[in-house]
Amino acid sequence: MTIRVPLAQRRDDSYDILIGRGLFADLPALLRRHCPAHAYALVTDSHVEPLHAAPLTARLRGAGLSVEVLGFPAGERHKTRDTWAAISDRMLAAHLGRDCAVIALGGGVVGDVAGFVAATYLRGVPYVQVPTTLLAMIDASIGGKTGVDTSAGKNLIGAFHQPRLVVADLDALDTLPPAHVAAGMAEAVKHGAIADAAYFAFLDAEREPIRRRDAPTLERVVARSVEIKAQVVAGDEREAGRRAVLNFGHTIGHAVEAVSRFEMLHGEAIAVGMAHEARLAERLGIAEPGTAARIAGTLAGYGLSLELPGGAGAAGTNALLDAMRQDKKARGGAIRFALPTRVGAMQGGETQGWTVAANEAVVREILDAH
Ligand code: NAD
Repeated sequence: MTIRVPLAQRRDDSYDILIGRGLFADLPALLRRHCPAHAYALVTDSHVEPLHAAPLTARLRGAGLSVEVLGFPAGERHKTRDTWAAISDRMLAAHLGRDCAVIALGGGVVGDVAGFVAATYLRGVPYVQVPTTLLAMIDASIGGKTGVDTSAGKNLIGAFHQPRLVVADLDALDTLPPAHVAAGMAEAVKHGAIADAAYFAFLDAEREPIRRRDAPTLERVVARSVEIKAQVVAGDEREAGRRAVLNFGHTIGHAVEAVSRFEMLHGEAIAVGMAHEARLAERLGIAEPGTAARIAGTLAGYGLSLELPGGAGAAGTNALLDAMRQDKKARGGAIRFALPTRVGAMQGGETQGWTVAANEAVVREILDAH
């Protein structure tokens, strides 16, 4: 199955997302067609390297492509400028020129770092996303946001750089631990909550087949989530408007991730964020009553904990609020949220904007009430 991301602003940069099984076998031909290069820098992490990068590299080299494998230690802690610098330096040492391209093989961490390397190496070279986690397939690999974290917060240094192609081979998910499947489902639930009530209901009903990784059900999840994300980013490549709805759960979620010192997975933190932001939406009179309970129920059904990290009481709440003030979504001192009006619809519009500023006292009340 192919889903195209037609970028409204720059049609030449539109690209395809391929979803299916056995796609790695076609990768040499796909690279030649969509992203021809003299040599490829295949960026991956220490978990994915033995599982998927080694066989894939053998296949690419066997097909006559020149491939330099650049691995880094797995984990959000390594999504840093140091890793970006080390990979870029290794590419320079390997004399990769402007006719090279980057392959990002891994989860969202690899995709974000490798994409940022591609955005900046020799002022920009093309790249292809080959996501290997559910979260990266349905979310991180699409949309061209690349970057790294700093001690001041997540994704604070980066660039928009669209991939030439995204190849989501569902076979790669066979090796993914169950907690990472659940974390990916948090972003799928987000897609239903922000844009498609029928899809949300499907995710609620099909929990068991998804947990079993039933192939056709999982493929429907990836396809529908990709469609939703692609449709939102296509109209607003640089998040000047509606793309902000994808940040539902992310204002609190990013703070949760930071306060947990990145012990929590990104998707796990976003689940906590969505549960609390949905309650905030109800408290502000934006969401229909019952919206928060439905969203929390579906997330909990996937085994996702909705507990805040950092301990109960003022200390935990203060740490979360501090982290939120650092967030890119904070503007003019106010903390901003993308909030649902009900399952399947978000507050906002082109004139009033797609985020809502919330008084810190109300946010505190929501966090304290936990
Ligand atoms: P991740 O990249 O850390 O991957 C999770 C873990 O799974 C890692 O340990 C990884 O090594 C391992 N792994 C990956 N593929 C595997 C496989 N097939 N089998 C076994 N293990 C495998 O995390 P993630 O959840 O994929 O992505 C989270 C990151 O994505 C965060 O940094 C987040 O900020 C970013 N993100 C970016 C965007 C965007 O638009 N750019 C959107 C959403 C999330």
